[in-house]
Amino acid sequence: MLTQRHYALFFVLFCCAAFAWAGDTARNVILFIGDGMGPAQVTGGRLFKGGVTEKLAMEQLPVVGLSRTYSSNGFVTDSAAAATALATGVKTYNGSLGMTDPQYDTEGKSHRLQNLCDVARAQGKATGVMTTTRVTHATPAGFYARVPQRDMEEKIADQVAKSNLTLLMGGGAKFFHSGQWHDPVSGQNGKRKSGETADELASQGWTVVRNAGELAALDATKADLRVLGLFNYDHMLYDLQRTTGTAGEPPLEDMVSFAVKRLSQNPKGFFLMVEGGRIDHACHENNARLAFGDVVSFDRAIARARKEAPADTLIVVTADHETGGLNLNGYAPREKVKGNALLGSFGASTANRAIIGWGSGPGGNSSNDVPTTPTQHVAAYPSEAAAHTGVDVEIFAGGPGQALLQGVMDNSEIPWRIARAMGTAFSDPINKANHTAHLNPPRNVRTAEVAGD
Ligand SMILES: [Zn+2]
Repeated sequence: MLTQRHYALFFVLFCCAAFAWAGDTARNVILFIGDGMGPAQVTGGRLFKGGVTEKLAMEQLPVVGLSRTYSSNGFVTDSAAAATALATGVKTYNGSLGMTDPQYDTEGKSHRLQNLCDVARAQGKATGVMTTTRVTHATPAGFYARVPQRDMEEKIADQVAKSNLTLLMGGGAKFFHSGQWHDPVSGQNGKRKSGETADELASQGWTVVRNAGELAALDATKADLRVLGLFNYDHMLYDLQRTTGTAGEPPLEDMVSFAVKRLSQNPKGFFLMVEGGRIDHACHENNARLAFGDVVSFDRAIARARKEAPADTLIVVTADHETGGLNLNGYAPREKVKGNALLGSFGASTANRAIIGWGSGPGGNSSNDVPTTPTQHVAAYPSEAAAHTGVDVEIFAGGPGQALLQGVMDNSEIPWRIARAMGTAFSDPINKANHTAHLNPPRNVRTAEVAGD
């Protein structure tokens, strides 16, 4: 027979269970994407920063998984298809942003997809997107835009107005201004055929900031503050070449710190995507020094997020793909793989025993700004720009729901698990129907194939 004491006990147990369940829900999520950051780029960044015993902030996250990066029409993805997979949970064709591949789509059409920012906003959360590339570039655009081809950057800029984002920061001022506009920093004119999008956004309530000083002057606690950061005419600079001071570019970690403070004002939490976007560009050029410099600055941003984000924040770090086929060749002594020494060669006489190697790319020019003895990193197959590769990339996770990111999974699985960690799911029937559509046989529909960046 159940006594009053039993009911009281049940009530206590129920409350404990409810509390434990709530404790597993991520109120906030920060998704870090290192563009082109394969396992060798992570190892290289670690060695460049502090040698073999160094541990990056991302490596200190407790859960590790692997992401399979192929796109719907290629064993090697471009950043647009990968961004779409990571934002919408649906694999698509190389070049597509936020739209399904008609060759795999359940209705044979290209449909617009719901993304993680939409999912978070449906829960009342605030959302932000930031990158070191142009804000209209593939990875950031995957989290707010829908276009059939990634190079439609003017159109992507047009879609910011209806994005419902609280923050959008990075480079790329040129797609927010017409040819009438003159950038005093770069000395160049805007690239839009028409329209002053930055001014239109400002008139709609966005605060537009152009440098580190203007960002630092903002009050992150101000209600309704929406920020468009355009810190360069084009991509932001590589971290090792970054202009500093108030007129210079803010480091990614300061952008993240501002975002955490601003978005934390929302009691229902936030979703923030942060891209270390230029690791990929340095790898396309076979420039290991600039790539590792950007891995390290990306990692500083992760360290800052771990320190400053509220405890109920899930941090996920992954990449869209690997770039260049980077390898770290044996057998240099430990002290030869720390800092700039990593970029050199070893051995008594031979200059071609370089530690760094590349599967593809221009080679030869890879270490032309290395302050130590230049070493020729000749790529296995020379090409103007290095190719992306099909190797799996790492997933690191820490915070509520972290266990969901464990194991080997398709990149399109990651956002479904993040949504689950937030205690919700994608609600759009298009996303649901097409989540595993890439596993079906292709339809006889031609899709545009785009060689990727
Ligand atoms: Zn690329």
